[in-house]
Amino acid sequence: MTATGRVYSRTNADEVYAVLKAAGRALSAYQILERLRGSSIRAPTQVYRALERLQATGGVHRIHSLNAFVACVADHHDGERPGILVCSQCGSVFEFEAPALESLPTETGGKEFMPQSVVLEVAGLCGTCRNATSPPPGSSLSEATGDGRAS
Ligand SMILES: [Zn+2]
Ligand SMILES: [Zn+2]
Repeated sequence: MTATGRVYSRTNADEVYAVLKAAGRALSAYQILERLRGSSIRAPTQVYRALERLQATGGVHRIHSLNAFVACVADHHDGERPGILVCSQCGSVFEFEAPALESLPTETGGKEFMPQSVVLEVAGLCGTCRNATSPPPGSSLSEATGDGRAS
C-alpha cells in the first residue's frame, strides 16, 4: 500500500476491496454498493465487475451460501483453497485451508469421480456470538454475589 493517497487513481476494484477490508465481514454486492455512496461507483455491475477481478487475484472470496463477499484475511492467491467459516449471526468470517484435491475421493459407488475444485463453507457461531447467546456452563451469577456490586 502506498503511503501517499493520490499517487494513482484508485480503480473500482481498489474501492470495493477497501470497503470489504474495512467491514471485516461478509457483505453482499448491494451492501458494498451502499457503502460506496459518494464514490464513482454507482451501478451494481461496476461492483460485480470489480468483485470478479478481486476474486481472480484471491483478494476476495465469494461466500456462495450467503451470496456475499469477503476480503481474504489469510493472504490466499489464485489457485489456493480457502475454507471459510462464517458466523451465521454477525457475519464474521474466518479462514482455514480446505482439503487438497488429491486427498478427496476419486470414486463413489464404484464410479470414477475427478474432483476439480473445493468450495468449503462452514456456518456456525463465532466465539463472541456464542458467548452472547449462551453463557458458559458453571459461571452462573456466582462471581458477582460478593462485593462485586459495589463498583
Ligand atoms: Zn483467503
Ligand atoms: Zn458472530
